[in-house]
Amino acid sequence: MDIRVGVGWDIHRLERGLPLVLGGVEIPHTHGLRGHSDADALTHAAVDALLGAASLGDIGTLFPDTDPAYEGADSLELLKEAARRVRKRFAIMHIDSTVKAQMPLLRPHIPKMRKRMAEAAGIEIERMSVKAKTGERVGPVGRGEAIEAEAAATLRLIEGAPSASNDSPSSTSFPREQES
Ligand SMILES: [Zn+2]
Repeated sequence: MDIRVGVGWDIHRLERGLPLVLGGVEIPHTHGLRGHSDADALTHAAVDALLGAASLGDIGTLFPDTDPAYEGADSLELLKEAARRVRKRFAIMHIDSTVKAQMPLLRPHIPKMRKRMAEAAGIEIERMSVKAKTGERVGPVGRGEAIEAEAAATLRLIEGAPSASNDSPSSTSFPREQES
């Protein structure tokens, strides 16, 4: 079995009066995250973990922040598209993630975040893990200046999947099959 693991990390600055969206869930708070899309740091970390595990680059190359199409974009749509590309060659076995915020308390929102992200990634909720931590009052997260997230994705290469052009030479030993 060919198992791949990818990691993702993201941080966005907190600013007063902006909407706060994490894991596709809008969370009532005085501050929200600054970014080109909806600045959903948790979903962005999950996207990068998926793309990394599949060696498909990163969120910035797939969805450039210079492209007006992604201005204010719903990051769950980016997760959906990343998962669609990954699934051409891989089964998504699991995504684990941690979101770090001093304020507000995120734990009550975790079930909804898991549900939304699992739906976007096309996996069962049991395969989507979200954990929340504070910044222990130190660093940019602890001072309430930013919200940070990290994620790990575990993929299984589908037997007979077409080779990717950017794969290592050894992987070309997999049988090439006709693909639409
Ligand atoms: Zn981001």
